[in-house]
Amino acid sequence: MRFALVDGILTSPSSGLTGVCRACGNPVFARCGPIRAHHWTHRGERVCDSWHEPRTQWHYAWQDRFPKPWQEFIRYAPSGEKHIADVHTGHGFTIEFQYSYLKLEERLAREAFHGNLAWVVSGGRLTRDLPRFLEGLASFQPVWQEGVYVTPFPERAFPRNWLDCSAPVFFDFANAPKLSDASSLVAQPLWCLLPKRVFGKAVVLRIPRNTLVRWAHERDQLLPTQTIMTQVARALVMIERARQAEIVRLRSIEIGRQQRRVWRPRTKRRRFRRY
Ligand SMILES: [Zn+2]
Repeated sequence: MRFALVDGILTSPSSGLTGVCRACGNPVFARCGPIRAHHWTHRGERVCDSWHEPRTQWHYAWQDRFPKPWQEFIRYAPSGEKHIADVHTGHGFTIEFQYSYLKLEERLAREAFHGNLAWVVSGGRLTRDLPRFLEGLASFQPVWQEGVYVTPFPERAFPRNWLDCSAPVFFDFANAPKLSDASSLVAQPLWCLLPKRVFGKAVVLRIPRNTLVRWAHERDQLLPTQTIMTQVARALVMIERARQAEIVRLRSIEIGRQQRRVWRPRTKRRRFRRY
């Protein structure tokens, strides 16, 4: 974990320091080695959250963009079950940062536990993550406004285990190996896959990373998902109507051409004169 209580104050790990775990009240020890991000650890193998995972610098860089009291926020269910949220905002929603692979059962359990949740998933875990997204991008159709897309093939762009979440999933490709200038450009913003589908199509938003942080400070819910889905559905209906109208227009032009061909008076055949 990132913070422990030292003399009652939230403190980052520092070599040789001992603190108290906020979740269980047991002593924790600072681990400040050269490889893993500096952290506090319990004695032996003990972890006080069954969902605990080793944290990376990627986690910490994201958490640092939020106030300290929001980070590693301990949440309790009425049953007494408790888990440590990566970030739980003052407005009452949770952001979980996920770098490593997550089993389906645990993903579902975390979504059910936190309720008002957004995932931020590292798109740099596997070397194929960014190339696959670049390929999948070809199927994105812009709708309604700048940065809003639909795709009938979300599985071509995103890892399969994140396709059917009940919470929005923000993919962060910033730490993925870049293959070209185009891939660097694509990796600058976050790409958010919304839950549910509109007319069988997935909705994807392109969002600057600072915007996510700003919204977390300002909003009760990170994204008004239902409103966005309704607006996308309306936009798709209008696009389809415009497409149908265009088909009718082109067909009437073609019919007009054919009719002119039929009714055009025949020109007299030239006869060869004999001299
Ligand atoms: Zn503990």
